[in-house]
Amino acid sequence: MTDLTRFTAAQLAAMLGAQEVSSQEVTRAHLDRIAEVDDDIHAFLFVDAERALDTALQIDNRRSAGETLHPLAGVPVAVKDVFCYTGTPTTCASKILQGWYPPYNATVVQRLLDAGMVILGKTNMDEFAMGSSTENSAFGPTRNPWDLTRIPGGSGGGSAASLAGFEAPLAIGSDTGGSIRQPAAVTGTVGTKPTYGGSSRYGLIAMASSLDTPGPCARNVLDAALLHAVISGYDPQDSTSINAAPADVVTAARSSDVRGMKIGIVKELSGEGYSEGVEARFNEAVELLASAGAEVIEVSCPHFPAALGAYYLIMPSEVSSNLARFDAMRYGLRVGDDQVNSAEQVMRLTRDAGLGAEVKRRIILGTYALSSGYYDAYYGSAQKVRTLIIQDFAQAFSQVDVLVSPTTPTTAFPLGERLDDPMAMYMADLCTIPSNLAGNCAASFPAGLAPDDGLPVGIQVMAPVMCDDRLYRVGSALERLLEASWGSPLLAQLDKEQR
Ligand code: GLN
Repeated sequence: MTDLTRFTAAQLAAMLGAQEVSSQEVTRAHLDRIAEVDDDIHAFLFVDAERALDTALQIDNRRSAGETLHPLAGVPVAVKDVFCYTGTPTTCASKILQGWYPPYNATVVQRLLDAGMVILGKTNMDEFAMGSSTENSAFGPTRNPWDLTRIPGGSGGGSAASLAGFEAPLAIGSDTGGSIRQPAAVTGTVGTKPTYGGSSRYGLIAMASSLDTPGPCARNVLDAALLHAVISGYDPQDSTSINAAPADVVTAARSSDVRGMKIGIVKELSGEGYSEGVEARFNEAVELLASAGAEVIEVSCPHFPAALGAYYLIMPSEVSSNLARFDAMRYGLRVGDDQVNSAEQVMRLTRDAGLGAEVKRRIILGTYALSSGYYDAYYGSAQKVRTLIIQDFAQAFSQVDVLVSPTTPTTAFPLGERLDDPMAMYMADLCTIPSNLAGNCAASFPAGLAPDDGLPVGIQVMAPVMCDDRLYRVGSALERLLEASWGSPLLAQLDKEQR
C-alpha cells in the first residue's frame, strides 16, 4: 500500500470519509514511522500508542455504523507538551513537572477529541516554551529532519519536526513570541499564530499570559486551516477569549485569490542580519504574489526595532509571576522534603533542581523588572513600546490588507551554535514578536529553499485582529504559485533528497 504518512490531512480525511482506509491503518502507519525515525529526530516526549489505536478503532466503528463524523475524525495529530491532556504526562519539557498528570483537558485538546481526532502523543519543546531551538528541553533537543545537525526551531520544534519527518500529518503548537511560526519556517512547514483570544488558553500551561496563543501546524495551507477551524472559537473558560464568530479560514485557504489585495512589505524587517538566501526567497515570493494581481507596497513600522527589547521585559515579567506556581507543593517534583528542611528550603531546592538555566534567567529578569523602584523604568516603558507597536500596526493596516516579512532572519542554525549566546538566540524572533505584542494574527508559509544552504525559508504574513482568513488567502495563493514554479510540492522535494 502507498505510504499513508505521505498524504495531507485533507487527503486522509477524504479517504477516511470514503472508507477507503481505516483510521487504525492511518494511525498505525504514523506510529510505525515514529518508531522508525524518532530516535534520530526526537520530536516526541511521549507517544500514546495504545490510546491512539483505541481512539482510531472507536472512530472506525462509529463510521462503519453510519454515524456522521467531523471531517477530520480519525486523522492523527501531535500535541505540544504544553497542553494539558489527561492520561498523558504533561511536562512542558521541564524536570519540575516530570511525572505530573493533568486532571483536566485543555480546551484545544478537548476540541481535537470532540472532532474525533487521534492524538499520537506529546511533542518536545523548549522548557516552558522558552527558546528558539528546542535545545532548552530538559529531555534533550529535537533535530531538524532536513539536516539532523541543525535545530528545528523553537519552542515548538517537536511539533514542526514531527510534520517535516512525516511522523504526524498535523500538530498543535503555542506561540508567545514566535514558537509556532519560527519552527515552521526552518522546517519548511506551515504554522499559524491565530488572533490572540481567537483560540483558548484554558489548559495551556502559561508562559506569558498576555501573549500565549495556541495554533495549528501542518505541511500545507489547507491542512493548517482545517485544524485552525477545529481549535478556534469562543471559550467561556478563558477570560480573554473573543466572543465572536471566527473568520472562515477554510474557505480562504481554498480560494487562493489575491487579486486586488494590498500587501505591505515591512521596511524595518530586512537588511542587516538577514541572510542572503532568506532575502532571495522572500523577494521571489513577493514578486509571485504581485504577478498574481496583488498590489505590493513598502510600509514603515518605525517601532518594530524596539519590539524585541519590549518583549524581553514583558514576557519575563509575566513568566516570573506564572512560574511561581511551581512551588514544590502543588505539582510534580519535590526535593529535600525530609521533615527537617523548612517549606521554603524545599521550594528552593526543588526550583533549583527542577528548572533549567534559561527559565531561571527569565524568572530573575522578570522579578527584577517588576520590583518596586524599577517597575516604571522597565515594565512601564516596555508597555509604552507595546502601545506604539499596536499603533504601527493600526497605521499600516489602514494602508494595506496584510503585511509580509521573512519569518526568520536566517535558516536553521547548527545545534549548539547559539546556546551560550542568549542574545543571538533571541534574534531568531525579530520578525515574529511584533504580532504577539499587538495580538494580531500571523502565519509562516514555506517560501522554498535558500539558494546558499539549501534549507527551508519561511515568509510571514500578518493580518489584523480577527482577520485570520487573510493569512490563508495569501498562503494558499503563494503555495499554488510556488508549486507551479517548482513543478512539485516543497515536501516532495524533501522526500527525494533525503530518503
Ligand atoms: N523564542 C521565543 C522565546 O524564547 C518565543 C517563545 C514562544 O513563542 N513560546 O521567548
